[in-house]
Amino acid sequence: MEKNNQIIPLSKPDISDREIKSVLEVLRTPYLSMGPKLVEFEEKFANYLGIKHAIAVNSGTSGLHLSIRCLQIGEGDAVFTTPFSFVASANCILFERATPIFVDIEENTFNIDHSKIMDYINRNCYSSSGNLFDRKTDKKVKAILPVHVFGQPCEMAEIKKIADKYKLYIIEDACEAIGAEINGQKVGTLGNIGVFAFYPNKQMTTGEGGMIVTNDDSLAETCKCLRNQGRGNNGAWLAHEQLGFNYRICDINCALGIAQLSRIEEMLEKRSRVAELYNEKLNGIIEKQKTRLNVKKSWFVYIVCLPSHYTKKDRDNILYQLSENNIGCNNYFPPIHLQPFYQQEFGYEKGDFPITESVSERTIALPFHNNLTAPEIDSVVGCLINLLA
Ligand SMILES: *Cc1c(COP(=O)(O)O)cnc(C)c1O
Repeated sequence: MEKNNQIIPLSKPDISDREIKSVLEVLRTPYLSMGPKLVEFEEKFANYLGIKHAIAVNSGTSGLHLSIRCLQIGEGDAVFTTPFSFVASANCILFERATPIFVDIEENTFNIDHSKIMDYINRNCYSSSGNLFDRKTDKKVKAILPVHVFGQPCEMAEIKKIADKYKLYIIEDACEAIGAEINGQKVGTLGNIGVFAFYPNKQMTTGEGGMIVTNDDSLAETCKCLRNQGRGNNGAWLAHEQLGFNYRICDINCALGIAQLSRIEEMLEKRSRVAELYNEKLNGIIEKQKTRLNVKKSWFVYIVCLPSHYTKKDRDNILYQLSENNIGCNNYFPPIHLQPFYQQEFGYEKGDFPITESVSERTIALPFHNNLTAPEIDSVVGCLINLLA
């Protein structure tokens, strides 16, 4: 096989002169943190989503942590979530000593399977004085934390029915799904609280950064307080009303975020076009994540799923060969329940979530970014097809 000389990276941020100019402007002001760019970024982000409050933080993980904490989910509580995700979506539950209850995913969308949440409730939960309890652990079930995996919206209407019936909060992990919609409504706005992330591989970046969004005034106020060392909104620098954190994002990052957000439609459009090119070349050759009707996906990464007769070893070998050919790729995602500290803490074993395990042994993330060219896509697809033969 002919080797690619040029490295084709797995992901790459799309930074224009507008971003560079905005960042430099902030550096000429004295407002590097908690300044006007923070306020502007939050206002513009809330506007974009059509939601009341947006609270910017220094990472998606910080945002998830504050979401769990402001809903007072802690020791003795449990949260339904997916084992097929980036580890932070479950870690945030552990940060507060609460317990994740994993349920398996849908085979086609890779998202949490709402019918399995219901199965779990019917089989393993009981109600007592209006609350739901997990019989196995005696934990009080407080929330559902769905993840819109790879920018593909979850079945939120069904998840909401369950949440309403059992009085559970919904925390949407929308870290991979900015701009994704269900029936014209943006994901992240469909539960009690939503979280976005702006690491450089996401659809838009601030370098490091994240955003919490909510329509609830009191949750918003708590998040603002907790991100800033527990300070109240009276402005006193050394008055700490609560046990807080330093999860502030600086104004340099916010300026970058404002510039990126102003180009978000253009950037999402570019990503769709790249995905469309891949789709055309790979149609009928390999499985891809499925999209439901009435749903707009936001392209985070381009994932293919090898047919079910391929083993993990086959997949890992393909990953190795792609890398050897200078093609960026990765195994998005290894199951969370099989990460060593989850196994140690909760005793999970292989076989506990068979669909998650089967999908995660066969998925490959291919190079994907806004400015990936048609010839680059050709060489990735050519190499992949050779390896499949
Ligand atoms: C990226 C990501 C996060 C965390 O974002 P960071 O900004 O890296 O902390 C959380 N959940 C999911 C699903 C993600 O993809």
